[in-house]
Amino acid sequence: MFQGPAADLDAYAKKVQRMVKEEKGVFGELPTFDFARYTFIANYLPQATSDGMEHRNSTSLTSPRSLRPEEGTRNLGTAAHEFFHAWNVERLRPRDLEPFDFQRANMSDALWLAEGFTQYYGRLALRRAQPD
Ligand SMILES: [Zn+2]
Repeated sequence: MFQGPAADLDAYAKKVQRMVKEEKGVFGELPTFDFARYTFIANYLPQATSDGMEHRNSTSLTSPRSLRPEEGTRNLGTAAHEFFHAWNVERLRPRDLEPFDFQRANMSDALWLAEGFTQYYGRLALRRAQPD
């Protein structure tokens, strides 16, 4: 349940939509999401810790920051980063991350590609999504 001003939620949603459009433009199309849907699960609560986790068809976002415009920029940055992972890491990933081993960490010396490109393009998409 959203407890802030509805205008803050609407403004945040519009910014996320613009960011998604910009990231789609990088690849030319959206990935094929299961059930043709991608879900942003955002918990922005005072008691939350800041985090983001990508999944193939969704992301989980947490932050103690509100959606007030002066605080929401970092929340948008995390959303942009995690959404870019829908391509880079979820569908394109360093070979040595596979096969997945859920008993121990998959070590890779190519995370600069997975995380570095994602960080770069997430920020770029947000910049491009700024209204004129
Ligand atoms: Zn990442």
